[in-house]
Amino acid sequence: MNKGDKLFILGLDCLAPELVFGESAKDLKNISGILDKSIYGELKSTCPPITVPAWMSMFTGRDPGELGFYGFKDRRSFGYGDSYLLNSAAVKEPVLWEYFAQKGMKSVVIGVPQTYPPKPFGGVLVCSFLTPDTDLEYTHPPYIKEEINRITGGKYMIDVDNFRTQDKDALLDQIYSMTENRFKVISDFIGSKDWNLFIAVEMGVDRIHHGFWGKDGQNDRIKGYYRYIDEQIGKLLEKLDDRTGLMIVSDHGARSNRGTFNINNWLIENGYLVLRGRPAEQGRLDPNTVDWKKTRAWAEGGYYGKIFLNVKGREPVGKIKKKEIAKFKERLACELETAGAGEAELKNRCFFPEQIYRRVNGIPPDIIVYSRDLSFRVSGCTGGGLFVKGAADLSDSANHSEHGVYIDYLPGRTSGNGYKEGLSIYDVVPTVLERFKMEAGSGFRGRVIP
Ligand SMILES: [Zn+2]
Repeated sequence: MNKGDKLFILGLDCLAPELVFGESAKDLKNISGILDKSIYGELKSTCPPITVPAWMSMFTGRDPGELGFYGFKDRRSFGYGDSYLLNSAAVKEPVLWEYFAQKGMKSVVIGVPQTYPPKPFGGVLVCSFLTPDTDLEYTHPPYIKEEINRITGGKYMIDVDNFRTQDKDALLDQIYSMTENRFKVISDFIGSKDWNLFIAVEMGVDRIHHGFWGKDGQNDRIKGYYRYIDEQIGKLLEKLDDRTGLMIVSDHGARSNRGTFNINNWLIENGYLVLRGRPAEQGRLDPNTVDWKKTRAWAEGGYYGKIFLNVKGREPVGKIKKKEIAKFKERLACELETAGAGEAELKNRCFFPEQIYRRVNGIPPDIIVYSRDLSFRVSGCTGGGLFVKGAADLSDSANHSEHGVYIDYLPGRTSGNGYKEGLSIYDVVPTVLERFKMEAGSGFRGRVIP
């Protein structure tokens, strides 16, 4: 066998490039030790930069429009309030480990979001934090679950209980315990399973960011955890032989949560969304309280905003004519992009699915909205004002940022590759397929990273 004919991909959800590549990385001995033998850089995430769809875009090489899903929750139909949680059934495009299986090569896949319920592919699959309950079968083959229990003494966690808890000490304990046990399983499976491709995604980085990011992520708890992850990477490197490459990737980065733009209140103030009465208190938009005959648009929130139009012949009580959609969207986006909210400069940015994706399958939002470069959350709540300054909820102080991490380390590679600009989450699949001399097929959005 040749050098580089096995590959370990370590996914660290939300790993932030500024905490890995910059000055603050000097404490991370193992990561900084491989950087000069790696190709590395910031990895541009999907729009939106959210765990679902980002990981599946990374491992299929397809954009959210091609995949036909756009977030954790999508609309199932054009009915009002008819949304559902995505799972592996939504993934119709081949994933990286299925290309390997087609060539008779084995894979171990642990913790990749949106793999539950498990789809057998001839390798080992352990589903992610999106498994509804660990009492369910979250592995394939099913006996793997027993092996995991044996390796971890029954302490394996697919996720922490609640990363938005105010009990920070308990959260920190859980994050460390989750990560420790994940790496125990990883370490065991590296030796005990047959594989050419090993993918493991750890959620702890995302959880510690949301729980402890604060002003800029530069604090003892986050730095301490990054050092802990770095130690795990050191142990991993000891386990991998010199024909095995190591990629470290993240699906997006993190940034401080500096405020919340209440987008439905803005739509109400500007006459796009009409309620039957004033909401008594602040809360989620209830479709039953909307006067749909008079409403042209409404929104859902999160780390970004999703605007839906009320279209004649599409929604049950539509108002905008289909031929007017394009003009309407332009006008609404223009108003949103120049909107302020009191003293807050929102600097909203709007994206249209038909312009940013190569195809538009499923039911996308009509407009995607980033507020202040994602440093403001967008809330779909009604009641209250247009804008709340600061992290409205101190139990979660991080938002997502558009760039994650890419590190591609190959033992024996001579230096001189180094930092690269312009890397994209869509480049991962074509790059790996090229390395394993598999036909990259046609029509990937990304390119092979040289
Ligand atoms: Zn994520």
